[in-house]
Amino acid sequence: MTCSIRNDKNKKYSDYHAEMKKKNLYIQTFGCQMNVYDSERIACLLEERNFQLIDEPSGADLIIINTCSVREKPEQKVYSAIGRFQRLKRENPKLILGVGGCVAQQQGEGLLDRFPYLDFVLGTKELPRLTKILDDLEDSGARSSATALEGRVDPYASLPFRAPRSKVSSFVTIMQGCDNYCTYCIVPFVRGREVSRASHDILSEIRLLASSGVKEVTLLGQNVNSYGQGHPGELSFPGLLEAIQEIPGIARIRFTTSHPKDLSSDLVRAFGRLSKLCEHIHLPLQSGSDTILERMNRGYSREEYTRKVEALRQRCPDIAITADLIVGFPGETERDFAATLDMIHRIQFDDFFSFKYSDRPHTRARLLGDKVSEETSRRRLEELQFLQKKITRERNKRWEDREVEVLVEGPSKSNSEESTGRTRTHHVVNFPGRNHAKGSLVKIRITKVYAHSLRGEALDKGGLCDD
Ligand code: SAM
Ligand code: SF4
Repeated sequence: MTCSIRNDKNKKYSDYHAEMKKKNLYIQTFGCQMNVYDSERIACLLEERNFQLIDEPSGADLIIINTCSVREKPEQKVYSAIGRFQRLKRENPKLILGVGGCVAQQQGEGLLDRFPYLDFVLGTKELPRLTKILDDLEDSGARSSATALEGRVDPYASLPFRAPRSKVSSFVTIMQGCDNYCTYCIVPFVRGREVSRASHDILSEIRLLASSGVKEVTLLGQNVNSYGQGHPGELSFPGLLEAIQEIPGIARIRFTTSHPKDLSSDLVRAFGRLSKLCEHIHLPLQSGSDTILERMNRGYSREEYTRKVEALRQRCPDIAITADLIVGFPGETERDFAATLDMIHRIQFDDFFSFKYSDRPHTRARLLGDKVSEETSRRRLEELQFLQKKITRERNKRWEDREVEVLVEGPSKSNSEESTGRTRTHHVVNFPGRNHAKGSLVKIRITKVYAHSLRGEALDKGGLCDD
């Protein structure tokens, strides 16, 4: 329990009382933005149960590890983290330790067997059951695992939402799960079937965010293009973007991820038409070889992908295009890999995330023979990243001497005399002056480009605040 009473004349006794009873919650989040969003929702839920979020695990009354199992490496990191928290449990036997997210869903009760000091396991669709799990623990000390996944149920619908304080940018999950079953991917097995959240819930959440000062929202889903499908009368994804465009206070809209096979011409037309929609799209390619794309069950060919990129660039010439790529998928030959390099040359991505293929439980690719050796995968990954680094630097040159709009995120981490922010195309820009108000939109002239960021100088004093 925290107990810090300060001599504050404006505080009522009941405030002190409430403060005295607050318990400390620490959440360690692994993996994607969706997990970040889930952790925020968990914190909101537990705030109503008198928990306050802390930044360090020491002193916590409750620790929740929110996990990722998309590749083997992040999954292993989770087990190490659970092991590390055992020491804190020894020091404070009252500490409650729980695991949530994709590893919780994947392993279920097995985690309780493997880690006897673990108190609960919370599956990806079971967030609303968290308070009951904590009550049961308090009443009877019963350890439990809740991992139901069936049904197209929105787990957020019954959760409380409170807008964060002093945030410029926020994630908003608009759909859960995935129906695509790419052969390498565990997501449909740990996040369940695709389900869209009701648009009125999403819109009221974004209105609340706007009223708390959030300027930019990033809409999250495994495949946002299919938002609303299977929900008669619901908005389409471009329709949802249009509705968000109307929310006062929101200056920028982003989204991720967009599956290339479902990228509609309506969505392409939204770029340039909706003034708040930022000129950036994350369009995972995964492989440049048609043979591998087919074995991955991706549902598009390299030609079809190329045509979608052309349509986007025709509509919006400056659009930034990023992607995900996997090397070493089972059966990937040197020729397949050369086709991926060729696509990287052809598309000229602004950047991408790249991964070595990792065998995952339940997936079809796991059963494929002809596995690529670790050494070959590593070499291919290095080659691909080396090539992209050159292309990124080259592409960044198009911003030199140009004016861009930057959303100020705050002082730069590496130089406190400078501010940092992002362009609409999601490029990081550092620029002199630390007095630019967080959340303001500043015009910057780009003076220098690097592989991972841009430098510039402010052209207006808009948004300056007193020191
Ligand atoms: N829904 C998104 C899409 O369709 O591309 C991606 C979601 S997944 C959580 C993020 C990325 O992880 C994928 O795009 C893929 O590149 C990578 N990934 C997924 N499973 C993988 C595996 N078994 N091995 C290596 N990378 C994997
Ligand atoms: Fe995984 Fe494919 Fe669904 Fe993306 S679209 S989450 S890669 S199954």
